[in-house]
Amino acid sequence: MKVEAVLAAKGHEVATTDPGTTLGTVAKKLRLEGIGALVVMEDQQVVGIVSERDVVHSFALHRGEASEIPVADVMTRNVVSCKPEDKLTHVLGLMTRHRVRHLPVFEGSRLVGLVSIGDAVKHRLDELELEAAVLRDAYMAGH
Ligand code: AMP
Repeated sequence: MKVEAVLAAKGHEVATTDPGTTLGTVAKKLRLEGIGALVVMEDQQVVGIVSERDVVHSFALHRGEASEIPVADVMTRNVVSCKPEDKLTHVLGLMTRHRVRHLPVFEGSRLVGLVSIGDAVKHRLDELELEAAVLRDAYMAGH
């Protein structure tokens, strides 16, 4: 299964923020939207990604003052991404290797979606279950 099939099921919307937004606002947005990361945009370009881990680390280090820290100070600028035609096995490999749980999806230079580790695992399990059912049926038909 490919990333494009995941996006067809979950949609192409990506939750974003900008570098000047404070971590207090980011934390509220993550909670309200029930998500774990925001893609950081500036002048319609992706300039980074900020996840709940960055927020938690900042609050652990700076306590209440972390609320006022701008995203630009804690985001990861070197964004690992994938393409719609990438296979889920490749995506899961990237997530494991880079220890990230969110991958923006780019078609050329255009942001067209985001895949989380939850999306990738769910669809990969569905695919494996289907493969197992097909093999079971073929085996039963042969006996
Ligand atoms: P996550 O596992 O997505 O919560 O992110 C863990 C750490 O990796 C945080 O510091 C994020 O800023 C960073 N991160 C998350 N997703 C990506 C990504 N696609 N590319 C680069 N860094 C990322």
